[in-house]
Amino acid sequence: MSEGETAADGFAYRRVILKISGEGFAVGGQRGIAMSCVVDLAEQIARAARGGVQIVVVPGGGNILRGAQFKAGSAAIQEATAHYMGMLATVINGLALQDALESLGVETRLASAIRMENVAEPYIRRRIDRHLEKGRVVIVAAGTGRPFVTTDTAAAQAALEFQADILLKATKVDGVFSDDPLRNPHAVLYSRLTYADYLAQNLRVLDKEAVTKCAEHGMPILVFNFHKQGNIERAMRAEPVGTRISDGALTSPAPAA
Ligand code: UDP
Repeated sequence: MSEGETAADGFAYRRVILKISGEGFAVGGQRGIAMSCVVDLAEQIARAARGGVQIVVVPGGGNILRGAQFKAGSAAIQEATAHYMGMLATVINGLALQDALESLGVETRLASAIRMENVAEPYIRRRIDRHLEKGRVVIVAAGTGRPFVTTDTAAAQAALEFQADILLKATKVDGVFSDDPLRNPHAVLYSRLTYADYLAQNLRVLDKEAVTKCAEHGMPILVFNFHKQGNIERAMRAEPVGTRISDGALTSPAPAA
């Protein structure tokens, strides 16, 4: 099935990468993990998985720790070490989501880009591919396994590696704005953007590296808000939510969501 075709239950894609920012695992503004948030994510993912969508989830770790908090020279902890701590944070989120999904009866595998066989499978592309074909949700934790990048880059790489139809980035804002909507009340929410527009405007919702990788390979991206109930499913049904970043589309302001 290619993008745009209708799947079972109206799901639009055969295979997606779902990047969930760490904030999705916590109550707004708080740190740590809130099981109610994890269960909400799991319920939405479960419905899409039952609808036949093959799903790779890439969890972030910002609800626990981001390596950039420990910029060089600011602490006894080296920044590279802090990035590894951040990657481990994504494994914690991945473990929580795996159990929540399995409690709903969804077969799930947790793969880690940092080897830790006691809690997660090693990241082996062909094995993950096989899990997806069998209808298992695969959570890919520990990002790329290397410091100084974020899980956006890991998600972009996964989208290419697993030949996904789209990279879905679930985040705490409605999509890509022309400016910070919290500071500028005139900021406009874009419904569509080209990769070139995104990169030229120095926007920050998604890492430049990730967008550049997707641009090089024509991988579409959808940025949308996980706080709005049902948005993960809406994104997988290709309903009009968030901002789509792809080739060729003109920049156009979307009506306020
Ligand atoms: N990280 C890393 N390499 C990776 C992915 C993540 O070093 O390939 C570290 C990095 O410090 C990052 C942290 O893990 O800040 C948590 O991931 P991220 O910031 O992407 O989480 P999110 O902002 O999505 O919650």
